[in-house]
Amino acid sequence: MLLQVSYWKSFVTILSRVSRTSVSAEGGSVLKRALFAPANCALLISILSAPALAETLSVAPGGIVRWPGVEVDRCGQAGRTFAAVSGDCWYAIDLLTPEGEMRLSRWRRGQKEIATVRVSAYPYEVQHITLDDDSQVNLSSADLARVKEENRRIGALWALDTPRRFDLPLSSPLESLPSGGRFGSRRFFNNQPRSPHNGADYSAAAGESVLAVADGRVALAGDFFFSGGSVFLDHGDGLISMYFHLQELAVEQGRDVKRGEVIGSVGQTGRATGPHLHMGLRWRGARIDPSLLLASTEQIPTIPD
Ligand SMILES: [Zn+2]
Repeated sequence: MLLQVSYWKSFVTILSRVSRTSVSAEGGSVLKRALFAPANCALLISILSAPALAETLSVAPGGIVRWPGVEVDRCGQAGRTFAAVSGDCWYAIDLLTPEGEMRLSRWRRGQKEIATVRVSAYPYEVQHITLDDDSQVNLSSADLARVKEENRRIGALWALDTPRRFDLPLSSPLESLPSGGRFGSRRFFNNQPRSPHNGADYSAAAGESVLAVADGRVALAGDFFFSGGSVFLDHGDGLISMYFHLQELAVEQGRDVKRGEVIGSVGQTGRATGPHLHMGLRWRGARIDPSLLLASTEQIPTIPD
């Protein structure tokens, strides 16, 4: 009887994970009906043992997938491997990943295991922004050269691979964090299409303190054409946090910072229509929605172990 109870418990755990993250509303209700009808026990077991369940997990571009386990030491994605954290693998799905299937891997006791997840269609809205200063939309050749050089320096950060110095969830970049947004929105500036918004905007008063979301090192800091006063922090394991449009910077490149430390103040420098904090996250190069790592990680789509 005890054995049966523990089996039921693990079935319920698996079902709740699957129905929360991957099974359509209709599929979820079919499974739940099966769970509570003892006569369907054999059917339920056959459904649960079908490997297809793990393959239906769906994630939005710009999202995260978690694959928890025991005795898992390494994880792999797109040719790059990285350490598991207490047996868990965390995979970052870049904002511009096309819709379709993606293979993720891990190594348990030396054995490679593979899971397939489904990256959903691009779900974010379209946003039109009007700027009075047209030179921030149609760049002069001098500004284009400046942006190109800045992008080269910024792009070098995505390959950083230093020891992990953060825990999840991250701490808030503002004393009080409003609901932030417009991550992923497809943007038109003065009716011209530009790159999608690869961070989250948090409204805040000019001068308000901006805080480091985790321990790290200032990988880059300065004044940039689009992002204005900017700080880039390296938290290890390929995680880079970015804070843009700052009025003042309180840290210099190369310095170590602590979680919650003031690194600058809110402003509207660079291409911004008003004071706010733009925060971005790259994890192993992938553009991800910062709100996913600032809130409880319970919401993150999870592959059953
Ligand atoms: Zn922004």
